Amino acid sequence: MIVQGRLLIDPDHPPELGWIEISPAEGDAPAMIKKIAFGEIPDDLAPPTFGGRDRLICPAFADAHFHVPQIDSAGCDGMPLLEWLDTVIFPAEAWWGKGGAIPSTRTAARRLVNQGTSLVAAYLTAHAQAAQESASFLAASTPLRFIAGRVAMDRCAPESLTGEDIARVSGTPTPSPIMPNLSKSPRHRVSVNPRFAISCTPELLAECGWALRDRPEVIVQTHLAETLPECARVRELFPNTPHYTAVYDEAGLLKPGALLAHAIHLSDEELTIIRARESIAVHCPSANLFLEAGLFDLGRTADEFGVSVALGTDVAAGVEIAMPRVARAMIEVAKALRMTRTGAAAARIKVPTPVEAWDMITRRNANLLGAPTCCRLEVGAEADLLVLRAPEGWFDEHLVGRIIYNWSSDLIETRVMNGQLVEPSSI
Ligand SMILES: [Zn+2]
Repeated sequence: MIVQGRLLIDPDHPPELGWIEISPAEGDAPAMIKKIAFGEIPDDLAPPTFGGRDRLICPAFADAHFHVPQIDSAGCDGMPLLEWLDTVIFPAEAWWGKGGAIPSTRTAARRLVNQGTSLVAAYLTAHAQAAQESASFLAASTPLRFIAGRVAMDRCAPESLTGEDIARVSGTPTPSPIMPNLSKSPRHRVSVNPRFAISCTPELLAECGWALRDRPEVIVQTHLAETLPECARVRELFPNTPHYTAVYDEAGLLKPGALLAHAIHLSDEELTIIRARESIAVHCPSANLFLEAGLFDLGRTADEFGVSVALGTDVAAGVEIAMPRVARAMIEVAKALRMTRTGAAAARIKVPTPVEAWDMITRRNANLLGAPTCCRLEVGAEADLLVLRAPEGWFDEHLVGRIIYNWSSDLIETRVMNGQLVEPSSI
């Protein structure tokens, strides 16, 4: 397959006309970018399969935090986090225990692919069987590269969501699997997802930590310090633990690459621990605005304390499923935070540039999700890319900013994922 267009290889440099040759997937080996060349396609090669001289070719996007069962729950406004979970989210997730898993997994996959996302770190629900069905569907029936995990939770929620883990910690002889099982593929990974400290007893967190022993390939996903009332509740539930981060650390959950969603309200000591463990803060700006959770301080987290920061939608607290729009929200949250300060304090607030934001939703997110061959135009990279119809007037030094601030899925003409042309409606 040959794709022609202006190649957005480095968001800091104007794209040049060129072409990409893609080699197809073979067995477990994903489709790869075999060759990248600039200029016209040589006469002895086949004409381009997709694209064109006036099209823009860019990598597909990576989303570091997404809830599959919440795909239809965005927009229920007016509640803080804990009330929103009780009122909106737990009923939606309970539906998975009644046969809702496949329809909502299909909807989620279609919408992700429609917006150009090819790599996603996802939460399923607490139902082991439904979570397995969903993960198997994602692997067999969608082109997504993913990390997905069953949600672990055994308190502070309806029994339909906590029952399996209550049985687990009470010592049932046949506990349900703590994570899905997938056949080996470099494009599919499982994770252990304790929902957050409020939903998990110390015993369940210890079970999650135990499940990770000798399984370095398994990712940890959880939520940390999203809102102040949540942090206060965690202090009540874990009175003998010094802080929220220590709750996870003592359970052995702060592994290298552990994805800690939000990480807004953290002390210097907590950020130092997260850096030392090489865990990752996943910033979800759209969700943080929707729930009024707080304004994440990117500069303090990433530059001052050296914590790696990824970017996620957090659908459905996040009302945006398109990563370019989440990139825009990240910039806007940083600007809003800067407006709350004056003088030297304002100057210390880091506002990412559009180029930095673009890098975050492509190459950087992929690296942090353990997929260093994804979401980039590079020989040897996995063949997940987009053909965009960008207006001719956009091709200047502001190209990436124009894409981020004007994003619509209508810009996408063609989606190539794992070397295949993908139509969202075909999933
Ligand atoms: Zn979340």
